Amino acid sequence: MIQPIFVYGQHILEQPCTDIQLESPQLQNLVNNLWDTMRNAQGCGLSAPQIGLPYNVFVIDSQNAFQAIGKGFRKRYFDAEDKGIQGIFINPQLLEVSSKMWKAEEGCLSLPSLIKGVSRPWQIKISYYNEQLEYRIQEFSGLTARMILHELDHTNGILLINHMGLLIKKYLYFKLKSIKKGRVKVSYPISTR
Ligand SMILES: [Zn+2]
Repeated sequence: MIQPIFVYGQHILEQPCTDIQLESPQLQNLVNNLWDTMRNAQGCGLSAPQIGLPYNVFVIDSQNAFQAIGKGFRKRYFDAEDKGIQGIFINPQLLEVSSKMWKAEEGCLSLPSLIKGVSRPWQIKISYYNEQLEYRIQEFSGLTARMILHELDHTNGILLINHMGLLIKKYLYFKLKSIKKGRVKVSYPISTR
């Protein structure tokens, strides 16, 4: 079911989440709601706190981006053989990051109309449980790794604006204030409760 997306200013977006019990009857519903809500908002990733639940769970879709961008761009965002993924990450843990970094612009459904260039590791290794509740240790790179790191940030209470300097935050003061009050034009339901 499509849920309203919590936007900047909500306490839940700024607190670290906890692991969810794998036996929790809430889990399947949560995953379905994340997919429905993300797709409805035409996003490429969404974490549980963004729909008001403080759990280490998120979904990402880098496959869609892979298909949408031209061949020339693919080299910049994906390793050879990588075609992106549609993935569910339950109780993920970041195990390793590469020293190779790269910068690219990111947006966030909880910070509508803001775009920020963020420097992140090219490659990561994480552990997590997949949708079948199987434990996995896996490496990801490029755009997929970036999306995972963005969502991991969310589950740690970190938002895109925490990657911004004080000066930019000052510059964005009024924009952030209107997002906080829900005075922002978006094509999806938002929550400012
Ligand atoms: Zn986000």
